[in-house]
Amino acid sequence: MAPDDKVIAPGSTIGVVGGGQLGRMTALAAARLGYRCHVYCPEADSPAFHVAQATVASYGDEAALARFADAVDVVTFEFENIPAETVRVLSQHVPVRPSWRVLETAQDRLVEKSFFNSIDIATAPWRPVLDRAGLETAVAALGRPAVLKTARFGYDGKGQVKIDASTDLDEAWAGMGGQPAILEGFIDFEREVSVLVARGLDGAVACFDVVENRHRNHILDVTIAPAHIPQRLARQAQDVAERTAHALELVGLLAVEMFVGKDGALLVNEMAPRPHNSGHWTIDACLTDQFEQLVRAACGLPLGSPERHSDAVMTNLIGEDVNQWLPLLRQKGSRLHLYGKSEIRAGRKMGHVTRLQPRSDKRSDC
Ligand code: AMP
Repeated sequence: MAPDDKVIAPGSTIGVVGGGQLGRMTALAAARLGYRCHVYCPEADSPAFHVAQATVASYGDEAALARFADAVDVVTFEFENIPAETVRVLSQHVPVRPSWRVLETAQDRLVEKSFFNSIDIATAPWRPVLDRAGLETAVAALGRPAVLKTARFGYDGKGQVKIDASTDLDEAWAGMGGQPAILEGFIDFEREVSVLVARGLDGAVACFDVVENRHRNHILDVTIAPAHIPQRLARQAQDVAERTAHALELVGLLAVEMFVGKDGALLVNEMAPRPHNSGHWTIDACLTDQFEQLVRAACGLPLGSPERHSDAVMTNLIGEDVNQWLPLLRQKGSRLHLYGKSEIRAGRKMGHVTRLQPRSDKRSDC
């Protein structure tokens, strides 16, 4: 195992596993601090390759992974559906931040929910569902409505089915493709919020303001920063994120998604140990953005101030929305970010636009 207390100085090369827009924006932030990035991704036409050195190889290609590890000084990742084994192999050659153990915890909803509950963080009530009979038992325990999700590899509502009064359980189970799943009680939430926290090599943490997320067709549509919630609740959400980061011994960045119940209670839905779509607003509205914060944490640098200097509303440009780039460029107070994807597809995140307003409230302590 490579030693993992090293400070990686500007001028070094950061390896990024995954080549999507999150990797692209990480590489742009890294360049601002004088780092180079080398991106490892199986898809040749990946947005991050436009702004970084590229390795195109499969996640199981151990020879390519070893060459990549030799060419970089530290490794981070930009999405969590990479085999944890890939990250473990890399960590035998080079510091990997966050660690593969963090990735492993976040990759499987059953492990993730058990972890949250083990550190006294509330989630929706849940049961593991490993087969058809298990689904029957879980539905009997939690009642309807409930949400059945594959334990692994789900995102943007994929691998997920709501079980209401009329749902046929055979069909619902068939939708899981025979994979282990989780049944969660359905939360009739008031809103969805998320918090991004960074934790450095020295254990220091820095939280961004809590934001509200609104979805369309299960895909994040709009993020409102800050969330319009009482200060006490915002502090509680940040506390959950900080406790999670410490318990994971995270070195890097972590997004924690939560529901605010109609009774004002906070329930954690899931976490992602990487930059997050709900943190894109930080590029234009904070002193340090989420991507630079990841670079700082992964390289063992002091974390930057996450202070928000403006209010922001971030809107994703999904599929054909991106064709509005010209009017968006003309809008005052708007900042346009395009990911350079060559093909427009329905449901594909093509870019985002952040609209800024002067900061409306007083400074919140973090
Ligand atoms: P997820 O893939 O877990 O992030 O779920 C995608 C979206 O489905 C969430 O952002 C919620 O809007 C909704 N959702 C997920 N789990 C639940 C739940 N237990 N109760 C109600 N809505 C949920």
